[in-house]
Amino acid sequence: MFQSHLPDTTRSYSLRFPVMNAVPQTIKSYNEVTALEFGLLKVPYELLNRKFRTTLKRLGKSNFVISGLCSDILKSLPPVNHKIPLETIAEKLRLLIVKLHEFNIVFSDAVNGEIECAKALQNRTEYLHKAIDGSEQDLDFYGRQRVYRLIIDHLLRLGYFETAQKLAEQVGTESLTNHEVFEVARQVEESLRNKDLNLCLLWIADNRSKLHRLNSNFETEVHVQYAMELAKAGQRKEALEYCKKNLSGLAGNQWAGNVLALMTIIGAGHDFPGETYKKLVSDDRWNDLIEMFRIENAKIFSISEQSAFSICLQLGIAAHKTPHCKEDSTSRCIICRELFDFALGLPYSHISISRLICPYKGEVINDSNVPLMLPNGQIYGENAIHELSKGDEVYDPKSKEYFNLRDVKRVFIL
Ligand SMILES: [Zn+2]
Repeated sequence: MFQSHLPDTTRSYSLRFPVMNAVPQTIKSYNEVTALEFGLLKVPYELLNRKFRTTLKRLGKSNFVISGLCSDILKSLPPVNHKIPLETIAEKLRLLIVKLHEFNIVFSDAVNGEIECAKALQNRTEYLHKAIDGSEQDLDFYGRQRVYRLIIDHLLRLGYFETAQKLAEQVGTESLTNHEVFEVARQVEESLRNKDLNLCLLWIADNRSKLHRLNSNFETEVHVQYAMELAKAGQRKEALEYCKKNLSGLAGNQWAGNVLALMTIIGAGHDFPGETYKKLVSDDRWNDLIEMFRIENAKIFSISEQSAFSICLQLGIAAHKTPHCKEDSTSRCIICRELFDFALGLPYSHISISRLICPYKGEVINDSNVPLMLPNGQIYGENAIHELSKGDEVYDPKSKEYFNLRDVKRVFIL
């Protein structure tokens, strides 16, 4: 996509759709990388996609102006052997040079931005490749960094940007966080909370083509709010003009719901009776817009509703949770002892066969580590008994007593 020769590159820009030469690959197996790391690639991919489309639009505009100027110059040229009107042509040529210069700036700027996005995508792809097929050292590095990356992603979603940034710097994963997406989202949400639509409209302009493809009506809702604020401030004429400018492109079936309610309010005033109108005028509408924005932003970057960190944590807790769990600070079960509140509302794991865990070594008690009972009724795995015996005596760490090894009995579980 990125070539150093200008003519080739401009030609590829004139394509209506980007040509994808890469063969799509299906995931052969699901593992921790393929299941958890979607966001790591999806976000830079969407950023690159957005940059590509914005560039197309910007270059298209410049291209239109330049073509117009060129044909204008050609028309001004007299027939062969006639004197060229130098002054008129020179002025037009000067303008053409200015426009070409502007085109060049926009072009280099856009291409540099795209290259940066593509590099980020490439870095992350290589990082994940190493996580799947890398050396033992790579796998170890990936494993150690992953938990930090999951925590950083979770912090960013909650709006703890500085904490996330500090942790990313400390563990060296700055290039692997989707900081910019969440930072922009935070700014837009904050401006909506302050009842300011300008930043949100800029965000819409940046993401218009994607919103369009997602069949989103968020832009219409934001325009409705803008006009509504004008109407509320008594500027009904301005509100109508705003609607003319921004809502006239709506299709016939889109003139419904809040758009129609807005028209009534502009016409009849913002204290018009009726639940629909009151709801549209009320301040709660700003919270609705924030909620709508969150959903659209998540859809654009395919961000799941919950962070990977939260999903993993819930899965881990559910794996330990049993129907018999109850809050008990002395229990050896991690859910009963520490995580009972976290486990509320989570499902139980399905365990068809009970597992016995040796209380001393934490190992599973099975055929290769058979259960053995001390005279006081305490049961340990065979491995633990070996470790706890000295000569013909065995020590019980629970009761702090010593017993003769001959009195240790094999237990059978039916
Ligand atoms: Zn429990």
